[in-house]
Amino acid sequence: MTQFGDQIAWKTLMGSAWYLAQTTMTGAGADFYYVRDPEARRFYGILCMAYASDPKTFGFLARNLDIPSRRIDKCIEDFVRVQQAFDATILPHVDHLAAEGAGNVVASPRPAPVTSILRNLGRPMRGSREMSAVKIALGLTLALAVAVFPAVPALADDFRPNRVVVDYIEPRSDSLQGVYERMKKSGVLEELARFMAPMRLPTTLRIWAIECYEDAELMAYYSAQEHAIHFCYEFVGRLEKSRPADVTEEGFVPAQVFLGAMVGLLLHETGHAFVDLFKVPVFGREEDAADQIAEFIALQFDKDLAETVTKGAGWLWLTDARTMLYLDYYAEVHSTSMERFLNYLCLGYGNEPDRFMDLADKFLKARARRCTDEYQQVEKAFTKTVLPYVDPSMLQEVRARRWFAPSMYEWR
Ligand SMILES: [Zn+2]
Repeated sequence: MTQFGDQIAWKTLMGSAWYLAQTTMTGAGADFYYVRDPEARRFYGILCMAYASDPKTFGFLARNLDIPSRRIDKCIEDFVRVQQAFDATILPHVDHLAAEGAGNVVASPRPAPVTSILRNLGRPMRGSREMSAVKIALGLTLALAVAVFPAVPALADDFRPNRVVVDYIEPRSDSLQGVYERMKKSGVLEELARFMAPMRLPTTLRIWAIECYEDAELMAYYSAQEHAIHFCYEFVGRLEKSRPADVTEEGFVPAQVFLGAMVGLLLHETGHAFVDLFKVPVFGREEDAADQIAEFIALQFDKDLAETVTKGAGWLWLTDARTMLYLDYYAEVHSTSMERFLNYLCLGYGNEPDRFMDLADKFLKARARRCTDEYQQVEKAFTKTVLPYVDPSMLQEVRARRWFAPSMYEWR
């Protein structure tokens, strides 16, 4: 909406923000299992977009409505990502001549990137190049996979498999020495590197177990400057303390959730890395995209891995949700922990209802019906944006074995 005149942007923003703020205050619709975000989050999201598109016009709103500064800092990034996603996916379908003739509404159109216009030339409006079946994904046989793999000629030399390297960097704090030793001994990062080997990456991707100091509250993060995932010892230390001693009431198994939470978080950061390295267009929050990529990958291999990651990541966010909910939590770039738990569960359930039936009955409620659709939507996006970067024959090898068995990581 911010692509058109200021008037339209202004009215749309004020209307939507007002409506969402009202709904938030009455507390209506704050159901976390609902397919939409809670209103408070949508309210912050809209303000954030508007602010980034025009800080001068919308700055006062951001100040008056108390958007926390940590979110403001991220708004420009959010906006640029949406713009890139728009350019890559929607702009090619816009008839530029027709748009220019549309009169006042397009008072100040942003010039279309040349690449988008070129892509649009001589191309039918929509749909003809869509994958014919949703089922084209990692789950199919190699023969079929080869048949549907786009040629991606530009990848030939620059994008190569076997480019994930890992390291355990010795922490300075004494309190983290034990975690460092146990992690190193477990070899969990080496397993991740082998698991990720088929990815054809444009550069080396580093995964570091590392002391994160003031960034430790992030638990882990991807640095685009270093092409590195920082996986914090502090997080693993907290996980060691907080993991359940016995099987929980909901059926979470200690060894499974401990490993699953770690692998889930590592795959989430991998999702961020893919968005960066493959220039994956993202609408909505990148954090949600990273969660979807993580869970989608976990669901494509043996079913125990699907269960380990779904329940591990799910348990992590569920536990967090039960201790941390406060209002300006909605301003965060991440979805709330409860939403993240349900997003993982919904994809797992959408892919294989029987395996996640108990948790789905308890938590997903009305959303359960839509989870197959949600799963298929993610599958489509993954097939189009990430699958072209997977080496097919190496993938076959990776698929042939089992990954991240909790019994291999007794840890204590
Ligand atoms: Zn993230």
